Amino acid sequence: MEKIKFELSEKFSPIKLPDNLGFGKFFTNHVFEMDYTPEKGWHNPTIKTLENLIMHPATMFLHYGQGIFEGLKAFKTDAGDVVIFRAEKHIERLNNSARRICIPEVDPRFMLQALTELVSIEKDWIPTKHGESLYIRPFIFGSDPFLGVKPSSNYKLLIVLSPVGAYYPEGFKPVKILAQDDYVRAVRKGLGACKTPANYAASLLASEEARKKEFTQVLWLDGIEQKYIEEVGTMNIFIVFKNEIATPKLNGSILPGVTRDSVIQILKDWNMNVTERLISIDEVVTEYKAGNLVGVFGTGTAAIISSVGLLNYKGLEMELNHGEPGELDLKLFEELTSIHYGKIEDKHHWLTHVSTKEVEV
Ligand SMILES: *Cc1c(COP(=O)(O)O)cnc(C)c1O
Repeated sequence: MEKIKFELSEKFSPIKLPDNLGFGKFFTNHVFEMDYTPEKGWHNPTIKTLENLIMHPATMFLHYGQGIFEGLKAFKTDAGDVVIFRAEKHIERLNNSARRICIPEVDPRFMLQALTELVSIEKDWIPTKHGESLYIRPFIFGSDPFLGVKPSSNYKLLIVLSPVGAYYPEGFKPVKILAQDDYVRAVRKGLGACKTPANYAASLLASEEARKKEFTQVLWLDGIEQKYIEEVGTMNIFIVFKNEIATPKLNGSILPGVTRDSVIQILKDWNMNVTERLISIDEVVTEYKAGNLVGVFGTGTAAIISSVGLLNYKGLEMELNHGEPGELDLKLFEELTSIHYGKIEDKHHWLTHVSTKEVEV
């Protein structure tokens, strides 16, 4: 692979950011960009000033949705180091998504270098308050100007960076969720396990309808029978029963979350009984009625852990933990953020340390 070219802007220092960063509203000055052609493969890797893309109106992605993305985070640790959480795992998933929708894969080692170089250049943008981080959004899309359904021949890969605050500005407040059986997000053998915009498009109407009824998120049931629990909003889901912490097993329609994987590992480290299996919504209702449902939480890079305070299924309102965040949810959030900020040992080698020496350009 070629060396990354640097076309850095003069305006190096971050703009003054507000106290409440929100999520995905601000972007750093630079992006990573590279191109794919059948002749040259991935080439022309460049870190340059963020600017608008210029595209032909017939760009295939705009019409047929051949695109994928990732979402991961960089943190400034308490000691001042810059780290990226589980970068290799996210790159592996990017390539899994790529294969599913006929996008050419990237060299994982080169991709890791691209991520670390870009984050290193923009290190002064990493916010440092608890809960804050630099969100990293790599994405790839088919760029041929052509109106016809087939895989694009040419592609573009970009990485943009966004300094973000805590995902839920109200803090660790449990959310209300509505189990959805009028719409499905994904079906087995479809695109559910692929991080692609289509899955989000499929989710919008259900989310809007839930929001109108004052729910924060939708609980997605399986695409065939609407019987088994799959995900919550754009997060994976864990159900805390009295003697078991269960999460739906990956069946092809569930996105294999990196946070999900981290939480399973941490629970195993704590010698807790964590299982990956089919969980029907009826089982959840039965266990709730029997007093065996301790809590429900979601996992994802953006929110990390999100407690569920209320679950509605066909009008039955199940209040969990009196609407308060669960003890386990808080403990997992604390553990993950302690790893992010270097407060405890990174025993599974989840952090990639980013060199922060000044780059020569
Ligand atoms: C990205 C995503 C998740 C969470 O994955 P993480 O790797 O933990 O961020 C869960 N569900 C969906 C649908 C997603 O797109």
